[in-house]
Amino acid sequence: MSTILKNYINGQWIESKGSSLIDVVNPSTGQRICRVPAGSKKDIEDAASSANDAWGAWRNTPATQRVQYLFKMKAVLEAHTDEIAAICTHECGKTFAESKAEMIRAVENIEVACGIPTLMQSVFSEDIATGVDEFVIRQPLGVGACISPFNFPIMIPFWFMPYAIACGNTYIIKPSEKVPMTMTRIFELFETLNLPKGVLNMVHGGRETVDAILEHPFIPAISFVGSTAVAKHVYQTGALNGKRVQAQGGAKNAVVVMPDADAETTVKIIVDSAFGCAGQRCLAASVVITVGDAAEKITPKVIALAQSKKTGNGMVADVDMGPVISMESKDRILKLIQTGIDEGAELLLDGRDIKVTGFEDGNFIGPTILGKVNAESEVYKTEIFGPVLSIVNVETLEEAIELINKNRYGNSACIFTRSGAAARKFRHNTMAGNIGVNIGVAAPMAFFPFSGWKESFFGDLHGQSSHAVEFYTQTKVVIERWNDEWSRKF
Ligand code: NAD
Repeated sequence: MSTILKNYINGQWIESKGSSLIDVVNPSTGQRICRVPAGSKKDIEDAASSANDAWGAWRNTPATQRVQYLFKMKAVLEAHTDEIAAICTHECGKTFAESKAEMIRAVENIEVACGIPTLMQSVFSEDIATGVDEFVIRQPLGVGACISPFNFPIMIPFWFMPYAIACGNTYIIKPSEKVPMTMTRIFELFETLNLPKGVLNMVHGGRETVDAILEHPFIPAISFVGSTAVAKHVYQTGALNGKRVQAQGGAKNAVVVMPDADAETTVKIIVDSAFGCAGQRCLAASVVITVGDAAEKITPKVIALAQSKKTGNGMVADVDMGPVISMESKDRILKLIQTGIDEGAELLLDGRDIKVTGFEDGNFIGPTILGKVNAESEVYKTEIFGPVLSIVNVETLEEAIELINKNRYGNSACIFTRSGAAARKFRHNTMAGNIGVNIGVAAPMAFFPFSGWKESFFGDLHGQSSHAVEFYTQTKVVIERWNDEWSRKF
């Protein structure tokens, strides 16, 4: 019998009211490590009621006092970095170093949200008419909720939650059912913050839990991160129910390499971007578009460096790349590699048959590279979300930009060049929301919005920074007349 995880509602650990359970499996070993409730509507009803009850007092707590809990949150997470990172690696598969890096990104968002007393400030116009002033107040919405994916179990809820609660909302986090242990441990640590009961809640589950969030009348604001199909469903259903929704979806990020790019730096950065987190990063380089003779300059070097990367259990010190999340995911990726070969791509590096001694039941795929990929092929268009890099060759920067702009996704695009003019043209014309120039993973810092475009994002305000503050507040415009003569009467 393995542990069955509980929900955290109204300051207490509570068993799910649902009857089904899902196995949580260590992707390196194939072993079940615990079970998580598949969830139920009742769990969300309980969490939403508790959060709604807590909201009245929380919104009236001064922002300067609310952020004191966030300062403590930062300290408690930092004090437990290694422990949380190990749990993350255990259930998600990424390397221990990658899990620790995720933690830093989470904490940076807490740090930014600690500035809420300033970030929530608004505008004031004195004397719009004689004795009349007009101003804006930012107020919280009520209960917010975050639905997160498997690939960043620590970081992603922190793109939203610290801002939401700092602004005076109460909150529900629904972690991915594939990686629920990390957030469960984080909530155990949050108990030491002594937040008022109901301000922060966590409900486990899958589809039924998500649909209950989308329908619940107490939840006016939802942040989602996951695949495009589910992001669309969340955005549409949330909107149908009158909610504001920000839904970040899938990606297929291209990296353009110009003939003048510095080969050594470019190759190192591209290989890190493509194969870090086993390619399961929404900002991973998934396609390299070489321009002109950049193809000959970098392709053999990319293959050699990727080949040198060690695949294995992420807790082993010299391992560069962990497994993919599940056997289903591995099967799907292997099929897509075969599709690419069938469509005429050259298999430049084959990671399909990798064996990791001692971890024979893990979901490992070694770095895989497909060359001469046709931009009309399925393997080019589909999000693979695994350690597979496609290389496409074109003759001009304009062709490269056109290819990127034709893609349904627009999460990120990067260029490697020594030319300011090429970089500027790329930045200006490329239809993607996060742009990198000589950068492989264009991940915005916490004080910038995470700016996906096209089918990588549904909504208008993104996660992180001022966007998160705007998303989790509504504006109230006040017009006031104060007449001098009335005062004299007292
Ligand atoms: P997913 O869409 O399968 O799951 C995300 C969340 O949605 C989970 O909490 C899951 O329980 C829930 N869910 C799954 N199917 C559902 C359904 N039919 N109805 C309602 N809810 C459902 O995504 P994933 O596999 O966990 O994560 C990988 C995906 O997330 C990739 O496509 C990746 O690009 C994307 N991602 C995007 C970003 C970004 O910033 N744009 C960041 C990280 C991951």
